[in-house]
Amino acid sequence: MFCPNCGKEVTDVNAVFCQHCGGRLRTNSIIKKNEETQVIVSVQPKNPGIALALTIVFGGFGLLYSSVKYAIILLIVDVIAFIGSVLMPMIDRDFMSVSPLLMMIVILSWPASIILAWHSVKTYNKGLKRGKN
Ligand SMILES: [Zn+2]
Repeated sequence: MFCPNCGKEVTDVNAVFCQHCGGRLRTNSIIKKNEETQVIVSVQPKNPGIALALTIVFGGFGLLYSSVKYAIILLIVDVIAFIGSVLMPMIDRDFMSVSPLLMMIVILSWPASIILAWHSVKTYNKGLKRGKN
């Protein structure tokens, strides 16, 4: 590669500036393209540690950090199961046995939110690396 400014040969192939005169070696369009790529790459990946900590402390609400979609689904299931566990025995005493089952769903949604948080952050970060997001 030869410098467009001074015409001397530049031995470093990856050099941006000429080692003899200090002039810019690459065309502006290539530099601009490189800057655009850097912007895409610099989109912040989500921290799996934060995602786990938030769901461990806040359950479904903590899941909002890693995946809004999963968080909303989980919270709706939680609310329905919780209301159901309270209302079902009021409607009919025969439904009393359903209550613990529904409460179990509410309780199990907690560890489920932790797993979903971990999974979504991993998927999200993988997507960032591919540049699809
Ligand atoms: Zn030069």
